[in-house]
Amino acid sequence: MTPSGAYVHIPFCARKCGYCDFNAYSGYKDGTKAQYVKALCREIEISTPNLGGGGGLQTVFFGGGTPTQLSAEALAQILALLPLAPGAEVSLEANPADADERYLTKLREAGFNRISFGVQTFNDSLLKLIDREHSGDDAKTALKHARAAGFENLSLDLMFGLPRQTVADFERTLATALELEVPHLSIYGLIVEEGTPFFARRERGKLPLPAESAEATMFGRALEGAQKAGLRRYEVSNYARPGFACRHNRLYWRNESYYGFGAGATGYLDGVRSVNIRRPSAYIDAALSGKSLVCESEQLSQDETMGETMMLGLRLAEGVDLEAFAQRFGVRAEERWAEAIATLMAQGLVESVGDHLRLTEPKGLFLASEAMSAFL
Ligand code: SF4
Repeated sequence: MTPSGAYVHIPFCARKCGYCDFNAYSGYKDGTKAQYVKALCREIEISTPNLGGGGGLQTVFFGGGTPTQLSAEALAQILALLPLAPGAEVSLEANPADADERYLTKLREAGFNRISFGVQTFNDSLLKLIDREHSGDDAKTALKHARAAGFENLSLDLMFGLPRQTVADFERTLATALELEVPHLSIYGLIVEEGTPFFARRERGKLPLPAESAEATMFGRALEGAQKAGLRRYEVSNYARPGFACRHNRLYWRNESYYGFGAGATGYLDGVRSVNIRRPSAYIDAALSGKSLVCESEQLSQDETMGETMMLGLRLAEGVDLEAFAQRFGVRAEERWAEAIATLMAQGLVESVGDHLRLTEPKGLFLASEAMSAFL
């Protein structure tokens, strides 16, 4: 399958958030960022002849890190190297504090047509607690600037389950986000990953997280509130008005192949998942001296690919298309995982609707990781 999408990783952040386990770094100087852009362009140029199989890429996603740590000119220079199909979705993750109207206008002119702002919460004390440098008002202003710059396809990332966050706090953030009438919301629960400062604080008993029942209530509020406002849940954590679901992320959830460019970026081509060198300085050295950029690669077996297709497909609201699955793999999922599916159905976590197997709402959704792990 020729990949129709490309992910571009920009690993720089103004400051590393206490909960973050992404391949993101703070403190890099402008000179290194310029070298990074050069290295990234080199990596893309080498792959360009085959990108998108001649028809161009349907989706491109600049993520991070914080892509808006680079100048608009640098982002435009990278994007210009990627062959786009007509009507391609070109997304960029942005920090509300970096996004003035002039900057965003340049991005729009360069061809970016979707922005996802990392808002997390509109509560300024909570933003400080999670090490974010912007304020709730910065997020509102950034959105205004994005609209003035001509962006219509806009998304806000929100989080629940933050330290000291109450259900009422989350309700206020959700209400503010809905009042802003964006066509897409991503609403994730905080996960405290091993190796992060938050993990160490939790081990020391110094991370005042909300109770699990409060987190479940916040998740339920997100579900009801977004849907009542006309944003349909199309994935476990993502809501959109018709026509605004993120096409690039759907490609991941359908377990299709994609290119990955940049430090630590993952690509998935011809059944091989490969990961680039993670540290920006080592990535720059390798790219500029023509060495291999891949630090890990794994050929997935058919059974592993099928398991991942089930696990990822269950994230989608419509679930896994069992007929399409059988056509793709020549195996029926209902037969390969007969026992697991029967157990999950008995537990009320999944249901069969027509040709699809999907998570139940709300129980399966809330216990999504448990249900999905049955296929790995
Ligand atoms: S802004 Fe995002 S990528 Fe950067 S440190 Fe914070 S959570 Fe990680």
